[in-house]
Amino acid sequence: MVLLLFGPPGSGKGTQSRLITNWLGIPAISTGDMLRFEIQAGTKLGEAVRCIMTSGGLVGDDLVNQMLVRRVSQPDCLNGFLLDGYPRTVYQAEYLDCLLADQALPKPIILHLDVPLDALVGRLTSRRQCPICGTIYNLLHQPPKKAGLCDNEGTALITRKDDQEDVVRERLRTYEAQTRPVLAHYQDRKHFYQIRGDRSPQYIFEEITGIIEPLLAKNLAAN
Ligand code: ADP
Repeated sequence: MVLLLFGPPGSGKGTQSRLITNWLGIPAISTGDMLRFEIQAGTKLGEAVRCIMTSGGLVGDDLVNQMLVRRVSQPDCLNGFLLDGYPRTVYQAEYLDCLLADQALPKPIILHLDVPLDALVGRLTSRRQCPICGTIYNLLHQPPKKAGLCDNEGTALITRKDDQEDVVRERLRTYEAQTRPVLAHYQDRKHFYQIRGDRSPQYIFEEITGIIEPLLAKNLAAN
């Protein structure tokens, strides 16, 4: 099963990705996390993408596509995977179609988390994350039990550099210009699902399990 979580920055992809992959036991592939890892590790690639990421633009298609190919070729992806933050351009979506066909992988199940744009700035600027376990909090809707500290690790939560308001606005502009057009690429597919993302994470997760469970049952019946 190849799942594709699609939606604007701040639509809750990271939160749902964790819930879904814990439930299904498949890896989550977040191109954003992979790129941040390269920056933190101080690699050449990290150096090359730092500036573009912290200004809210998109990293080049070829670079991200190559990174994705390497990742999905690893053995833990054999039984399926979830994509979070990829594809982000029409070119990446076309590339993914070829990659899945080449590797005889199934067509993706697309889950579109739809959140009105005006709700996103507030969500993103109040987002905090644990640097150790990656748990995402939101000071408005999902604060940690103790202010500023991760519930699991007790470590100080951090704000992503690109969650500062001016960068957030640029990311949303980038989304509108380059990523929203990807919807047209998928909208007519059989497994395209529109999900209202302006509700509680648990409620959204239940809606997602309600979509996926029958598909899993069908898959099992077919084997
Ligand atoms: P969000 O979905 O909250 O914007 P991500 O963690 O997915 O955050 O991505 C952070 C940044 O990483 C993006 O703003 C972009 O610069 C870069 N990035 C991530 N995925 C891609 C991609 N598929 N193509 C190009 N750039 C990407």
